[in-house]
This record gives sequence, C-alpha cells and structure tokens, in this order.
Amino acid sequence: MSLPIVAIIGRPNVGKSTIVNRLAGTGAAIVYDEPGITRDRTYVNAYWGDRDFVVVDTGGLVFDDDTEFLPQIREQAALALKEASAALFIVDGQAGICAADEEIAQWLRQQSVPVVLAVNKCESAELGLSQASQFWELGLGEPFPMSGIHGNGTGELLDAVVAHLPLAEDLPDVDEVKIAIVGRPNVGKSSLLNAFVGENRAIVSPISGTTRDAIDTVIERDGKTYRLIDTAGIRRKKNVEYGAEFFGINRAFKAIRRADVVLLVLDAEDGVTEQDQKLVARIEEEGRSCVVVINKWDAVEKDSYTIYDHEKTLKERLYFIEWAEMIFVSAKTGQRVEKILELADVAAAAHKRRVTTSVINEVLEEAVRWHSPPTSRQGRQGKIYYGTQVSTQPPAIALFVNEASRFPENYKRYIERQFRQQLGFVGTPIRLFWRSKKVREVENTGSPTNRATRVKSH
Ligand code: GDP
Ligand code: GDP
Repeated sequence: MSLPIVAIIGRPNVGKSTIVNRLAGTGAAIVYDEPGITRDRTYVNAYWGDRDFVVVDTGGLVFDDDTEFLPQIREQAALALKEASAALFIVDGQAGICAADEEIAQWLRQQSVPVVLAVNKCESAELGLSQASQFWELGLGEPFPMSGIHGNGTGELLDAVVAHLPLAEDLPDVDEVKIAIVGRPNVGKSSLLNAFVGENRAIVSPISGTTRDAIDTVIERDGKTYRLIDTAGIRRKKNVEYGAEFFGINRAFKAIRRADVVLLVLDAEDGVTEQDQKLVARIEEEGRSCVVVINKWDAVEKDSYTIYDHEKTLKERLYFIEWAEMIFVSAKTGQRVEKILELADVAAAAHKRRVTTSVINEVLEEAVRWHSPPTSRQGRQGKIYYGTQVSTQPPAIALFVNEASRFPENYKRYIERQFRQQLGFVGTPIRLFWRSKKVREVENTGSPTNRATRVKSH
C-alpha cells in the first residue's frame, strides 16, 4: 500500500530535521549539523490520529548560491514536491522573515502543491502568535506557531496538514521490486547504483517502512519498477570523513530487512571475506532472496576456465546461500549490469510464489518414489503424509510426517532440492517445517525442568 507524502521544505537550520524526527516519533532524534548529510531526500513514516503518511526531508533549500550540493538539493526538493500531496514549509520564528524564506515562498507559490506554513522555534505561547503573524507576509496563508523541540503547536499544524492528504486507499498501489545493494566498502556498490541509474536522473518515491538509513532510488525498466536501497550511498563518496563505520553493517542489516532481493556485491579480486559471511548469514536468517554480484570482473585476468574456477570457490564459501544465482559484472564498463535486474526479477518472483497443495504433493510423491526415506536400525521408517505451503516471502512448506526425527539431514536436503528443481524456487531461500503428526511426549510435558520434577514425583 502506498501512503501520501508530505514534503518538508525550508532553508537550512530552521529545524526541519528536528520536526521530522518529532513526526516520526522515534525519540532518537538525529539532527545532523554537517552540511550535505541530509542533501538526499530521506523518508520517514509518520502518523497523526488515524492518518498515516510519509514525510520527506528535502535538505536545506538555498536559492542564491550554487556551491557544493546546493543545486542538487533544489533538484531533489523539486522532485519531492512533484510526488507530495502537501508541502510543509518551515520558517524560523525567532529569526523572523529573511530573504531566503521569501525566495522559497515565491517558488512554492508557483507549484501546484498545497502549502502549510509552520513557524518553528515558538516555544512561548504569548510570543509565538506575534512571532508567527509576521509570516502572513509570505502570502501562503495562516502561519502556525510551533516548536519542534517542545512539541507545542504540532497538533493544529498536523490537523492542517492531514486535511490536504488523500486517503491511503485512494492512492494507487505500488508494484515494485525492492532491491538492497549490500557489500563491504569499496566493492563497487555506488558504482553499480550509478550504472543502473545512468544519465537519467532517478525518480525517487517513498513507501512505508522507509528509514533514513538508506537512500532509495527508483528506476524503471520495461514498465517495471525497482526500488534500489543503497547502503553506502552516493553520499559517502563526498563525505568520506564519515567513514565505513557510519555506513556500516547495521545499515546493511536494515536494508536487507526491507528488501525483496538482496544484491550481495563482492569484489572479484578479493572473493568472500568474513564480513561477507556475516551478510550471507543475515540474508538467510531474514529469508530474503539474493543475487551474488561479483563486480570488477574487468580487472581480472581471465582464461576460459576463470569463471568456472571462481564460481566453484565462491560457491563453497557461500554455502548458506548456495541457492543464490551468481553473476560476474563490471560496474565500470557496464558489462552484464542490466542482466542483474533480470536475475533479481526471477528471484523476487520465486520469493513470493505460492504453490498449490496438490502440486506440492505431486512433487513429494515423485521424490519419495525415486528415493524413499531411510529405515533406521530399529526398522523404523519415516513417512511423509502430505505437505502444504504455509507462507511466502520466503516460501515455507510444512511437511506432515509420522516422526520428524526419522528423517536425517541429507534426506531433508534432498527433499528441499526436489522442491527447488521441480517448482522453480530460484534465488530464494525456502523453509521446510517437518511436523510430526503423532505428538511426542517431550512436547506434551513442557520444559525439561518440568519434566524432571514430574519424573521425581513419580
Ligand atoms: P534543519 O537544518 O532545518 O534540519 O534544522 P535542525 O533540525 O538541524 O535544527 C537547527 C537548529 O535549530 C538546531 O540547533 C536545533 O536544536 C534548533 N531547533 C530546532 N527546532 C527548534 C525549536 O523548536 N526551538 C528552538 N529554540 N530551537 C530549535
Ligand atoms: P562502494 O564503497 O561499494 O560504494 O564502492 P565504489 O562504487 O565507491 O567503488 C570503489 C572503487 O572501486 C572505486 O575506485 C571504483 O572506481 C572502483 N570500481 C567500482 N566498480 C568497478 C569495476 O567494475 N571495475 C573496476 N576496475 N573498478 C571498479
């Protein structure tokens, strides 16, 4: 489901981030003083009463200066306004009207989006009204005195904002594949993102669940929409001082959680490192589909065996996601970059595929016919009664059997392989739940301690 968007507009230092953090209700306010850090649009979820919406923080708008990121901020703000249902224009009540506010107001009046004017830093109720009233001059209607830090005035302000928002059910559904680009620093994540985006400036739009930890870029190919969740970000390129820790593994974990498909980017020359293994483990734990992208393929000296050799070594080290497709690319030359999206499509489709119970049972019958469950030394044999898919993303199949412990690991893996091969679960983890139909005593008696006491009292 998509949500209506409110674009936060204002010059630097008026309190935009403070207000966004208050609206997001995170408590853990992140107010960046460094210029540039919020120059990309960040989306956060907010709600007022029973209305959910998304707030997009556009960065500080400055019109009369073209240094550094400022032209880009303006471009981002314009894009944000295009997709917004309302703009929240923030000014500083303590500073009063300044030329920059007038310029922004003039620009906003030319846009077709309804504008709500918030006069921030009005902590005192008596002073607030007079502080705010001077902003009538901007020609944008009623100024709402408020304080982002103290919270006063936000109620009336939000009433005015949500009055402009369409109901969520009236907004079109977004059908998109969410792709997280993760990997160690320097493997080429940003280069890859840029290769996807190309010269055409990305269209960026929000969905629920978007956080300020990653920049989303939305691209389109053949009428399909892909949301790229980039954890390193173009930001880091120009803000190297924030370093790898700031854009570290936790961001990657969060991006993985939000994604349908994870692109695990490796450097062809470095192979799989310990950090990659951590990402791999997380991808598998979260049940996300995955494409392993081996980048910088242009830098590897190759002969005809190279791909085969690499693939073999990599597969061994990527054991936990052996189901993931692997692709050798160069973000630098663009070689096979577009093919990544095709693999991502396949993986995303498999991730949400639902298979009927009758098909599952056909596969099971066939699998058992070829290779029946082993018989234990006591002469007991595992028997599979039937299976059914219980959920998707990732696909999960419950198998009802006489006694789960009678199926050794290698047999379980065999069954899983059969599902993959016969049902085309490519690029996605699948979960199998082996459920004993006959409930075992251990499960009946609760925790081991309980059981121990019970035994004693007998
Ligand atoms: P942004 O650049 O517009 O995102 O502004 P910030 O949210 O980073 O805030 C700029 C400065 O204004 C910070 O020092 C904030 O502490 C301060 N500030 C934000 N909101 C308020 C407020 O309601 N009252 C007062 N007095 N200061 C505020
Ligand atoms: P990130 O930290 O993962 O975002 O990596 P970057 O995209 O910033 O790339 C790190 C370095 O690797 C840069 O110097 C890039 O020019 C270089 N690089 C990225 N992709 C390729 C590639 O496909 N081939 C080669 N030879 N170098 C690349």
